[in-house]
Amino acid sequence: MLVRPTGGVAPMMVRQLSMQEYVRLSAEVHDLARAGRHQEALAGCRTLIEGDDSPAARATAYCTRGVILWQDLHSADEAIADFSRAMELDRKSIHPLLWRAKCYEQSGHHDAAAADWREITQRDVGEELWFEACDALRRLGQLSLEEEELAKRRAEEVAAREDRKLKQLEAERARQTAEFEKRRSVQATRRSLGHCYLCGERLSIFQKLLRKDSHRRCWGYRE
Ligand SMILES: [Zn+2]
Repeated sequence: MLVRPTGGVAPMMVRQLSMQEYVRLSAEVHDLARAGRHQEALAGCRTLIEGDDSPAARATAYCTRGVILWQDLHSADEAIADFSRAMELDRKSIHPLLWRAKCYEQSGHHDAAAADWREITQRDVGEELWFEACDALRRLGQLSLEEEELAKRRAEEVAAREDRKLKQLEAERARQTAEFEKRRSVQATRRSLGHCYLCGERLSIFQKLLRKDSHRRCWGYRE
């Protein structure tokens, strides 16, 4: 065990959770929070934070704790601190940033919220989240004219793309229907001629006597 020369302060115990324990405890924390057992859920988060060295895993645990603190315990300041820690540990993850933006906004920190929402618009996020961030900036009176224009243009692009997709889908459906109708009419003609409706060959007298309208082999049977 490493003993750090930290004066009288005991070195922090780092419990290493196995992957299995980590996954199990994460699920348990969510269940506890859902069941309203918030203090136990928070204790679970602490174990997750202390029990893993990986910055990304600790960031997830901080983010989870932040959500519980904010949504269930209405402790916005503590939640913001956790989201900020999660962001420091994992710069790439969008979740703590998104939660912090919402938390800042709802707790009245409008400038800080606008800064986070603006960062979201600058990240490589999906269309939906990008629009959500633009809406938030608009709500906060912080969407510039250029951004407003850009949002309008992107909304039009999305609408045009959806429209194209819909038209392609309709064309495909029409093509399938036409193909089906054509096949049905070919088969009706073959039947009326006394031919196998599947391959179009003339059926034998024997098959006609049995009132068959197709070859057994055309159904995959041996004749
Ligand atoms: Zn046939």
